[in-house]
Amino acid sequence: MPELPEVEHVRRGLEPKVIGEVITGVTFSDKVHSGKEAGKETIIKGIALQSFREQIIGSAIRAIDRRSKYLIFTLENEFGEQLIISHLGMSGAYFVVDTLDDIGIPNYINHWHVELELQSGKKLIYSDIRRFGEMRLVRRLEEAAQIMAIAPEPFEAGAEDYFTAQLGLKKWQQKKIKEAVMNHSVISGCGNIYACEGLHAAGINPHRLVQDMTPDEERQLFKALVASLEEGIRFGGSSISSYRNVEGKSGQMQTRFKIYGRQTCGTCGREVEKAVIAGRNTHYCTHCQK
Ligand SMILES: [Zn+2]
Repeated sequence: MPELPEVEHVRRGLEPKVIGEVITGVTFSDKVHSGKEAGKETIIKGIALQSFREQIIGSAIRAIDRRSKYLIFTLENEFGEQLIISHLGMSGAYFVVDTLDDIGIPNYINHWHVELELQSGKKLIYSDIRRFGEMRLVRRLEEAAQIMAIAPEPFEAGAEDYFTAQLGLKKWQQKKIKEAVMNHSVISGCGNIYACEGLHAAGINPHRLVQDMTPDEERQLFKALVASLEEGIRFGGSSISSYRNVEGKSGQMQTRFKIYGRQTCGTCGREVEKAVIAGRNTHYCTHCQK
């Protein structure tokens, strides 16, 4: 699943290609049509396909922001602003191309689901092999409950205090620290991979209960999580979980991992331990993490 660094790279890739463009047409794949007809909210959430199409055609794309793992497209037409809030699910990707074939990767060509025609003649295409991604049209961010529940961006002032305050809540005390840091109400954008890396960098065993963490350890952990997210952004995200940026490329971050997906610890060389925590494969080192 793309995490914050990967989504940030998608945003940065889209920004110069589509800001200022006007949406002139919208096409959905057969899977989206049949899914909606069957009552499944396939990718386009909470709105009929025809309404989605009518409401966005003629809109200019004014901005593309990111909040945690969500992309937020700001659209403007004569009636005002609207937002498309998009999540990449497990395997979603955006491309800006002249023709579908220009995507160049068969899986993403075959699994295109939403095509926005742009005034320049280019197409903004959303592809998603597993179809867990979503696009949701709202007037205001406040209408998107899933965004409102997210902790502040981890790089913002105050995010560390927010993190320690959340960990202080009763509901987390008996939970393992790794489960807490993968929850976006505690820290935003940090999924399984960066949680493993951050815990390793902070020297904290992922099985530790939140109630057994000292205030210093909590702050150390927050800084380590932020550092691994920043490193992920610097190295273009990772290539894990079929992530692709707008150019169809994956990142290099996986070569920097000290613990995730490794056989031996990148710090001490001992064998990496594996466990499932909150349903996710967790990699850690019992020597380096206490
Ligand atoms: Zn180690």
